Amino acid sequence: MIEIDGSSGEGGGQLLRSALTLSTLTGKAFGMFNIRAGRPKPGLRPQHVRAVAAAAAISRAEVEGAAPGSCQLIFAPGSIRSGRYRFDIGSAGSVALVLQTIFLPLSLAGSASSVIITGGTHTPMAPCFEFLELHWMAMMRRLGYSATLKIDRAGFYPEGGGKIEATIRPAGNPAPISLTHKPTLKFIQGISTVANLDFQIAVRQKRATFFHLQSVAPSLCIKTTELQSPGKGTALVLLAHYLLEDGSDVSLGCFTSLGEKGKPAEAVAAQACQEMLEFIHSPGAIDPYLADQLLLPLAIIPGRSELLTSRLTPHVISNIHVIQAFLPVEAQVDGQAGSPGRIRLTGIEIA
Ligand code: ATP
Repeated sequence: MIEIDGSSGEGGGQLLRSALTLSTLTGKAFGMFNIRAGRPKPGLRPQHVRAVAAAAAISRAEVEGAAPGSCQLIFAPGSIRSGRYRFDIGSAGSVALVLQTIFLPLSLAGSASSVIITGGTHTPMAPCFEFLELHWMAMMRRLGYSATLKIDRAGFYPEGGGKIEATIRPAGNPAPISLTHKPTLKFIQGISTVANLDFQIAVRQKRATFFHLQSVAPSLCIKTTELQSPGKGTALVLLAHYLLEDGSDVSLGCFTSLGEKGKPAEAVAAQACQEMLEFIHSPGAIDPYLADQLLLPLAIIPGRSELLTSRLTPHVISNIHVIQAFLPVEAQVDGQAGSPGRIRLTGIEIA
């Protein structure tokens, strides 16, 4: 049994989700202690319990300790089975983080799966649906993974109640990737959206985005939309598309800002725009969120991948530690937390 100290690195929920993914992929059991010891309310929160349940469902795992508040967990997976799955997070817990937990095992399951997840689609500190579909999944397709993602309704914090559907097909022949320099910026895409609030908020978010970004973007294309949702919310999602040598474009930076009571539309826009400007002006070729989210997929693609991220985060370091607990993957990280950083990782084929 692999033992993992959940207090290492940033000591958050991602250590657990990465261990669940790697355990189901490799068939190796693990025990985690000090779960989320680095967080103000340590132990499993309901959304982490749901991630455990989802990983257990697709791998017929035996589990001990999967209850809210628990600081220890034992997870012993069986074999992965594709199929039709439905997971209800029951709160505004992130649907994206649960989907990412089970995505790789289902991609390697041999036949397609259909997964419906209800919960939060636009929640703080997690990928929102547009990030997931237009940024993470777009890059995953480049690597060789295959899936279609759809949103039926949005779930904002705190009500949740969003619903997404994913059809995950067997991966083709995933190939390693090198993202170490920024090509030419082609355009910035934006989605300014509201649910059950005045549509003018979306218009103001868009207007403020033009104010911040029009001098740096060769072209700025911002759509205002209204989402169906049981709750209220607003979001601004910005994607920086770069031109590749083959003429195609790729989104290398995606930044989101969510509205909240007392936060004007202009402040929502300023937050996402500031992150976007930092990214555009940094030497990094990939944003800090996608950087940590690509490490697991790259770890199971044979060959050497290299990423230069605009901002190295503790999530990158702890993800590498968890990967190396399960797989003999070589990795090197150069740079300091908070600054641009280079990640070299040589993935291996898993049986
Ligand atoms: P905890 O409550 O323990 O902090 P958690 O389970 O919500 O944990 P983290 O361990 O912090 O989560 O992991 C959050 C994940 O969400 C990381 O993969 C991170 O890259 C991603 N993430 C956070 N903010 C964003 C964002 N704005 N856009 C895209 N992804 C994000």
